[in-house]
Amino acid sequence: MPEAAAAVLAVVLGLIALAVVVFVGWILPITLGLRVARRKNYSPAWMLFGIHPVGGWVAYIALSCQVPRVQCPTCGGFVKVNFRLCPYCHNEIKPVANVRQMG
Ligand SMILES: [Zn+2]
Repeated sequence: MPEAAAAVLAVVLGLIALAVVVFVGWILPITLGLRVARRKNYSPAWMLFGIHPVGGWVAYIALSCQVPRVQCPTCGGFVKVNFRLCPYCHNEIKPVANVRQMG
């Protein structure tokens, strides 16, 4: 029965295409975005934009362009690594050894 075989093939191809769309649209940008957010000390909640496939990629690219942040030892606020003073408590922030120098 070639018609039945063609129908099965169409269903299988459809499922493969659906899996690719789900992976590229949701799993990949959210996974990459969560990794960048963790590495740079940004909130993983940014990846809630990943509910929309385009939003996930936009959030991932936006996070990738951000300067990494460190936690202020005095007030606990998150400060970009290139800041000399904490914008919250105005304490001096010592350069962190394990963060690469930018630029
Ligand atoms: Zn501070």
